[in-house]
Amino acid sequence: MIEYTLHGPASQERARIRLMSALRENRFPQSILIDGPAGIGKKRLAMEIARALQCTDPNMRPCGHCFGCRMADDSGATENWVVPLETKEAHARSSDDVSAGSTAKTIEDFKKAYIEEIQKNPYRVDVFSTGAIISVDLIRSMTASFAMKGDRVRTVIIAEADRMNESASNAFLKTLEDVPPDTYFILTTSSREKMLQTIRSRCLALHLLPLTDDEVRTEVLNMAGEDFDESSLTQDVIGLAVGSPGKALYYAEHGGSWCGLAVDFVQKSLRADYTGLFLQLKDCGLEDAYEANRFLEVLSFLLADLLRLQAGSSLRMPETANAVGISKFPRIDATALELALVTVQETMSRIESRRVSASMCLQNLSLKLFEGYK
Ligand SMILES: [Zn+2]
Repeated sequence: MIEYTLHGPASQERARIRLMSALRENRFPQSILIDGPAGIGKKRLAMEIARALQCTDPNMRPCGHCFGCRMADDSGATENWVVPLETKEAHARSSDDVSAGSTAKTIEDFKKAYIEEIQKNPYRVDVFSTGAIISVDLIRSMTASFAMKGDRVRTVIIAEADRMNESASNAFLKTLEDVPPDTYFILTTSSREKMLQTIRSRCLALHLLPLTDDEVRTEVLNMAGEDFDESSLTQDVIGLAVGSPGKALYYAEHGGSWCGLAVDFVQKSLRADYTGLFLQLKDCGLEDAYEANRFLEVLSFLLADLLRLQAGSSLRMPETANAVGISKFPRIDATALELALVTVQETMSRIESRRVSASMCLQNLSLKLFEGYK
């Protein structure tokens, strides 16, 4: 019997055991949808599965050195991936249509660059830009490449599958209704609810759990590369990440300044020092909707921690929460903090809708925060 081993953090072992027994018993589903919070390692697991399925070793899979294993790790095997692309990237020509010697970037070049990023660190949450989508053309070129598959096992990882637009979803649904033999689809998403119910129901659902704080630290240090500054991985950053190495890495890069900004945001809103705050926001370059909302996540965490502080429970970001000095503002009780949290959530949805600029939304938020309590 062939032995299968999928590697990963202990917290996610249950999901892997389930997959390994399906592999061993030769009943692996042709399409699976891995969901769970952003940055916890869904793509990492998808790559492990792809290796195990493509490996041809007679005893131990994945072996790491057979042709199948090498193909699974080859960023140039772009037909094994579907990734969201920006419009201009998605409209680039295919390498088949570009004449020899041309230096124009092809759609495969763009895909290869993203696949390399993912392979280097699969936890990262900011590989794709916010506007990138999976278009119907990407699904069509995937199905077109099936004709050239040969008799090898073929795996396709569809990263951030919730970014399929309507026509892509419908085209993919047709593919799922008649999956070619020896072909496996591994979809990942942190927004399962955004996907077509008909696609979800045709995939085996696999829910991946967040990691422990210790595992987050280990994974970030393993993956981050040599120039990563370990001291940026503070207790507050780990607390903010809630079990996600990808978020921990992201907040380690932005977190120090954002934690400080969140403290100032609360204090200056309470003191009605808007001019100072507006200037500070401008300096922090939070015009981008994605970044603005990640900052507001930090602010939400801070408000939730201030509530915990009042209730005497343990804090997720102790250093930042204590820096506010909330006892100097006696009018701010639990109700005021709960209302403030709702106001931040509303601002996040407004920013997400992209009808108003992110910086305008942040300014309005500081005016509205703690209204009636200042
Ligand atoms: Zn192998």
